[in-house]
Amino acid sequence: MRIDLRSDTVTRPTPAMLEAMFNAEVGDDVLGDDPTVLALEEKAARLFGMEAALFCPSGTMTNQLAIRTHTRPGDDVICDQLSHVYLYEGGGIAVNALASVSLAQGERGKLTPELVREHIQPDDLHKPITRLVCLENTVNKGGGCYYTIPEIAAIRTVCDEHGLLLHLDGARLFNALIETGDSPAAYGPLFDSISICLSKGLGCPVGSLLLGKTDFIKQARRFRKLMGGGWRQAGYLAAAGIYALDHHVNRLKLDHARARRIGQLLLDLPEIEAVFPVDTNIVIFRLSPNILAADYVALLAEKGILAVTFGKHLVRFVTHLDFTDEQLEQLALKIKEGVITQS
Ligand SMILES: *Cc1c(COP(=O)(O)O)cnc(C)c1O
Repeated sequence: MRIDLRSDTVTRPTPAMLEAMFNAEVGDDVLGDDPTVLALEEKAARLFGMEAALFCPSGTMTNQLAIRTHTRPGDDVICDQLSHVYLYEGGGIAVNALASVSLAQGERGKLTPELVREHIQPDDLHKPITRLVCLENTVNKGGGCYYTIPEIAAIRTVCDEHGLLLHLDGARLFNALIETGDSPAAYGPLFDSISICLSKGLGCPVGSLLLGKTDFIKQARRFRKLMGGGWRQAGYLAAAGIYALDHHVNRLKLDHARARRIGQLLLDLPEIEAVFPVDTNIVIFRLSPNILAADYVALLAEKGILAVTFGKHLVRFVTHLDFTDEQLEQLALKIKEGVITQS
């Protein structure tokens, strides 16, 4: 049995999701009349207490559209050094927005009000103008840790004091909400824009949503077209998103419980030096200094367990909709046998 824990993006649509896609009523989204895309955008905007939404092919696109729309060339963006917008979007902040970045060193990738304050550029002609702060929730590189509403509200206060905009990369926001019990509607008022992914824990084949004010979304829609992101009968994909919002949110608890179990099991392996705290569906562990993550991941693959490297000695597992209890038991057996020690 192949156990694929490389990412929560590897899921296949369920038969019921495929049926919803098959039955979707579609139009032409570039012409603005795909009813299923419109329904998804309205549903998501309402859910998060935002005015409007834009359905896009990827979370990279929704983040990049947000940054591009909020900034002007030469502006500065504050984010954590571990953030996806900085590390994993191809240098997009520089390329798409012509903006620079001030990197904070938060705890597990989380910013604080103090860190934001420290990274605001002074009013000095040598300096770029700080315009935007980007948070990530949950933090991928931080091992799936999350913010609480009071933590975000305190950062929002600093942004308001300094006239800064606040964007949330919420690729895995639903994973955070399931753990904290916070309502999505509490999020809208705290941010100028939010990106959420449907293609991660929610199990859609494709899709992310950008949420924000009506004028902001209108401008982002222009930039999406400019980037070649206008799509036509996208309602087939939007139908998967609507299905996922209705059926795949509460089950994320299962992914978290399974991830915690994996975290505990890994503690028994002698080649593993440390396991990051498992807060949601991401398990990151550090190997002994004599073992390279790339070698270890190759050994795991030989045993039918797929993972990704997350640093020289770091490996990441992510649980998801297609990772079952049966697979968890298989994985537990392999871990009990001793994974690398058997090779
Ligand atoms: C996956 C992810 C994204 C978006 O990735 P795409 O593959 O472009 O959809 C953005 N931010 C974080 C934190 C992610 O994990």
